Formats: sequence, structure tokens, C-alpha cells
Amino acid sequence: MANTIQAIRGMNDILPGVTPRWQFIEGVFRQLMQAYGYNEIRLPIVEKTELFKRSIGEVTDIVEKEMYTFDDRNGDSLTLRPEGTAGCVRACIENGMLHNQTQRLWYVGPMFRHERPQKGRYRQFHQLGVEVFGFEGPDIDAELIMLSARLLKELGLSELVRLEINSLGIAEERQAHRQQLVAYLEQHIEQLDEDSRRRLQSNPLRILDTKNPAMQTLVEQAPRLFDFLGEESRAHFQGVCDYLDSVGIAYQVNHRLVRGLDYYSKTVFEWVTEHLGAQGTVCAGGRFDALIEHLGSKPAPAAGFAVGIERIVALLEERTDIPDVLPHAYLLVAGDSAQRQGLALAEGLRQRIPGLRLQVNCGGGSFKSQMKRADKSGARLALILGEEEVQQQTIGIKDLRTDQPQQAVPQQGIDSILRALIAEAEPAV
Ligand code: ATP
Ligand code: MG
Repeated sequence: MANTIQAIRGMNDILPGVTPRWQFIEGVFRQLMQAYGYNEIRLPIVEKTELFKRSIGEVTDIVEKEMYTFDDRNGDSLTLRPEGTAGCVRACIENGMLHNQTQRLWYVGPMFRHERPQKGRYRQFHQLGVEVFGFEGPDIDAELIMLSARLLKELGLSELVRLEINSLGIAEERQAHRQQLVAYLEQHIEQLDEDSRRRLQSNPLRILDTKNPAMQTLVEQAPRLFDFLGEESRAHFQGVCDYLDSVGIAYQVNHRLVRGLDYYSKTVFEWVTEHLGAQGTVCAGGRFDALIEHLGSKPAPAAGFAVGIERIVALLEERTDIPDVLPHAYLLVAGDSAQRQGLALAEGLRQRIPGLRLQVNCGGGSFKSQMKRADKSGARLALILGEEEVQQQTIGIKDLRTDQPQQAVPQQGIDSILRALIAEAEPAV
């Protein structure tokens, strides 16, 4: 084993044992996106480094120490995307999707951050992302939150999560707050860790997002940004709260909630859980009205959120009722002529019976070992094609999940048996 090559630390294989859970999550998400009228966008995984520096902000954890940045063969500095918003905005600007129109978009895919790997924190992780452009009012903020609430509900996780919301106001309001925040932090400089001292002048708001337990009291007693918000920002925030009340979504206003990226303004929200230890945020988002102009385009309001799929998968471990997608039937082929006919017989069945999941025994083997494989496949029925069945144009059927004896049926009769089995397994709603 000494010479085998291993995966990169923090970049995980997602093995067949857990992919059903991933498919379940992505399937629910895709359906919801259709239900709310959102369109998929597929984006490159690599972008120019400059894009992330300019959008996420130079003085953030991500840009300062988490990006996978490299020079390509032309000497251009490129970065594996640490999040999806920057690329999405870049694509919308570049393709003229923001001028005099609105967009409701979603994507799914891997993100890359060079963090210290631990439970719920990986170097390649995956997000479901949603972004909307061109909507100014609090209604769309509320729609995004409702959407995320419904997603968590349909995943069966409502009981495990809670919603926190806050407003970060607009740039001028943050500026006024900043002066007092810096003065306060300077008074307590001895309690600041090294990162925070460095950020004191460059990006003090980020200090409030620290994960350092030793700094939590300090942060809790800091001047609140919310107290600096003007009428318009407050009205917007109240609007979001009113909409949430009107649909019965429970939330906690948390005026300490700031987000780790520079581009947020006004509404921010997080879905958090107590069930995953320190990595408790499963979904995070908010409004970022200034980003589009900041990236050089005509200004347009924007908002969005991202869900960390690994953390949802971990929460779903508490649920055992997610069905595996197992074959309906496994076809055993014993003997030369059966082997020759088996694949063709299976193709015919798949052609005629939509939705049929049929696995064929490949690679030969004794009847006994094929039967073992049939059982292990998880299939409900074993279909048996031996020399005798070939001659008599029948097929043997054995229910692998009951004690009923094997039966021989004419080959024409097999379609209706399989159709009935599928209908029984997946009743039409
Ligand atoms: P955290 O506070 O956990 O570091 P963040 O503020 O850096 O999160 P965002 O950039 O807002 O996270 O990403 C949105 C979501 O993506 C997070 O809430 C989390 O569920 C997930 N996420 C972020 N970083 C990682 C990671 N390294 N590994 C797994 N999931 C992650
Ligand atoms: Mg982070």
C-alpha cells in the first residue's frame, strides 16, 4: 500500500453508499427551483483571481488564506472558485443578463477553500446556490428565505434548524458604525487575536464574524451595526420580517450576525443547527446590492444564498427513511445459450418497460454464486434463464424477499409481472 496514491486532504470521495442521500437532496432542490420559477446556470470552476479579490474582498478569510490560486501556463493568475456568487455575477454581466431585466438563478457544484479539514469543513465542498438580480424590495428577500425554509422542510430537517436574520444596512451606515467599532476594539486591543489586530483598520466588521471562542464576549458587547441603520434600511428589514410573519416562518433577529464576505448589504440570514458541533451553519445568504456596480457594471440589486451540501448530508444521517434506489430485478444467466440470450432479453425488457431497473449477471459464475449476487444487489426478484428455460421459452422467477418457491412463467408473461412490481414499488400519486 505504501505506493498507492491517495486523495488530497480535505477532498473527499462521495461513495455509492451515500450518493442516494446526495441525489435526494439535489432532487428535492431541483424540483423546488422549478416550483418557484428559477432557472439553472452552469458556471466554470476556475475564474481569474482578480474576480474573487474584487468581489469577496481582499481582507476576508477566503481571499487572505483560503483560495487555491495558481498561475496557468500563460502566467495568468487563476483560482478555483471558493464560492459561486462571484462567478454568477460575472457571467450575468458578461452575457448582458442584468440590463432591464430580472433573473432568478440556481446552481449546484463544488467549491474549494484551503481550510483546516475537520467535520463539516472540507477543502472541496459542495453548495446549492440561488441568486436573484434586479429586485429591490424586501419581497424577494422573503421569497429566498421561504425557499430555503421549504427546502429544509422537504428534506425533513425543520426540527433540527433555526433561522437567524439581521440587516447590515448600506455602506454609509456601516461607515458610521465602523468608527465607533474601531474605537471600542482599540480599547480592548489586548483581547484581540492576531487576525483581528490586522483587520482593525482594514476590515473591522469582519472581526465580529470571528470563530475564536476567547473573543465572543468582546464581540457581543461591541457597538451594534443595527443601531446605525437609517429609516430606509430599517423599513426594508421590517418588510422582510412582516413577510416572514405572514407565512408563519419563525426566525430570531440576531444583531450580531455578520457574514464573512464583503459584498453583503441589508438583509443577511443563516440557518443554523446545534447538531453538527462548531460547523453549525447549513445555509447562509443575504442581499448584495453593491456588488454588480463594484464589478464594473451598471448597478442592479441582488440577493442570494448558498447551502452547504455536506452539512445537510450529515444532518440527514439522523434520518433513516431515505429509500435506496435498488434494482427491481436481477437476471441470472446459466449456461452458454442462456448467456447469449440474456443481454438481448434484458434489452427488450428495458425497451418495453419504462422505469424498469434491471441488473444482468455479467461474468458468468455458478447458479449458486449468481444467486448470491442477485441477493446482494438488493433486487426484489431474481429472473432465471438457464438451458431448460431457453429451450422451453420460459423464465424462472424467484421472489428474493419472501420464502415463496421459484416459479416458471412463459417469457411473454414476464412484462406484466415486472410492470405490476414497479407499480407496487412506486404507486402513482
Ligand atoms: P463558516 O462560517 O462555516 O466558515 P462561511 O461563512 O465561510 O461559513 P459561506 O461562504 O457563507 O460560509 O458558505 C455558505 C455555506 O457553505 C456555509 O454555511 C456552509 O454550510 C458551507 N461551507 C462553507 N465553507 C465550507 C467548507 N469548508 N466545508 C463545507 N461546507 C462549507
Ligand atoms: Mg468560512
